[in-house]
Amino acid sequence: MPIYDYECENCGRFEKMQRISEEPLKECPNCHGQVHRMISKNVGIVFKGSGFYKTDSQERAKDKARMINRERQKDNEAILDRDVKSYVNQSESTTQKIQEASS
Ligand SMILES: [Zn+2]
Repeated sequence: MPIYDYECENCGRFEKMQRISEEPLKECPNCHGQVHRMISKNVGIVFKGSGFYKTDSQERAKDKARMINRERQKDNEAILDRDVKSYVNQSESTTQKIQEASS
């Protein structure tokens, strides 16, 4: 559950843990004065659930891209070593990994 920051016109700032679906407080639980919700500092919270699948798959795509970059790096190192045989082997294994990652 995220914590929201409120400001009461009498008591000042306080925090309240609320469900996302809950209505924001309109009145202070302490003095029943008027409160307003501050802009949450918990914007970065990662919500788990079906609605966030898009974020998940983007993360996975980034992981794949990172993995492929690492493999390409190995290809390049093999070229620098002028070791043709190991370059061919490395290149074939990279191709295979890319195919696996994009399937
Ligand atoms: Zn108050």
